[in-house]
Amino acid sequence: SAQQSAKDQLPRYVRVNTLKTTVEDVVDYLKRDGFCYRGQALKLGDLKLEKKDFVKDLHLPELLAFSYKTDFHDHFLYKAGHIILQDKASCLPAYLLHPPPGSHVIDACAAPGNKTSHLAAVMKNKGNLFAFDLDAKRLATMSTLLLRAGVTCHQLANQDFLKVDPDSPKYKDVEYILLDPSCSGSGMVCLRDSGPVDQEEENARLASLASFQLRCLNHGLKFPRLKRLIYSTCSIHSQENEEVISACLLQNPHFRLVPLLAEWPKRGLEPFSQCLRASTSETLTHGFFVALLEKHREAERAEP
Ligand code: SAM
Repeated sequence: SAQQSAKDQLPRYVRVNTLKTTVEDVVDYLKRDGFCYRGQALKLGDLKLEKKDFVKDLHLPELLAFSYKTDFHDHFLYKAGHIILQDKASCLPAYLLHPPPGSHVIDACAAPGNKTSHLAAVMKNKGNLFAFDLDAKRLATMSTLLLRAGVTCHQLANQDFLKVDPDSPKYKDVEYILLDPSCSGSGMVCLRDSGPVDQEEENARLASLASFQLRCLNHGLKFPRLKRLIYSTCSIHSQENEEVISACLLQNPHFRLVPLLAEWPKRGLEPFSQCLRASTSETLTHGFFVALLEKHREAERAEP
């Protein structure tokens, strides 16, 4: 089908795990392993690769792109945790939040943990990374993944994020939150086109997801020392993206949107062009949405 061919055109992205290795070492290893390094990608078209060719991504410094046929699941670098198999769009949240080493960070809906491991890499394993998830099974998978990735700065909790107390002394220094809540998944190429849908049922499902997403967002903004919160979904529906952000900004006047990556080609729907969208055709990734909220300086100073 048309959907299948769209999926086939997505490059295979590999994030270098800087907790264990460097981009240069991975490039060297892969060259010796028979891959052909084509240098730094300079335009989107450079990410369309064949056979054993690979490049450095044009937006994200620790990302490599390969032809869609490449499979690393049995590769030494993957098994040793030196590389993480992660779509480019899903690397945006941790990269854009960029908590400095030593900071206190919450990953609100964290399992299976690729973004948690990315946050830990950005933090150089220094600081406190509190990761929550409701699903015990997914958390178990996550433990394995974080162990393999060499993450040590985290605390996992099998807990409903909405019930985490923002005023607990434990979280008094939390300045950064990554919120990647459950969503419809409508941006995932492999989940699309799964037959006819009952429009009424679908609308009800989106409304219920959006109300959950907004509650998570409002809850995140209650942490007293919060500076920045990044919100992401792998949905292409504005109900779960711009509309959630719009409602949140109305309810939280001390927060504003931060303009993201001027060089990124696909923006949030108007008037939310500070946010990013991602799509198969325009960014060669799965469908995705990212918004970065920041507390106003004045609001920060007004704090006791
Ligand atoms: N950030 C993850 C990653 O990059 O690997 C993916 C997160 S996935 C989109 C959403 C997660 O939210 C699911 O694992 C789900 O179990 C969890 N979840 C749903 N409701 C939650 C809640 N109230 N509190 C905490 N986690 C929740």
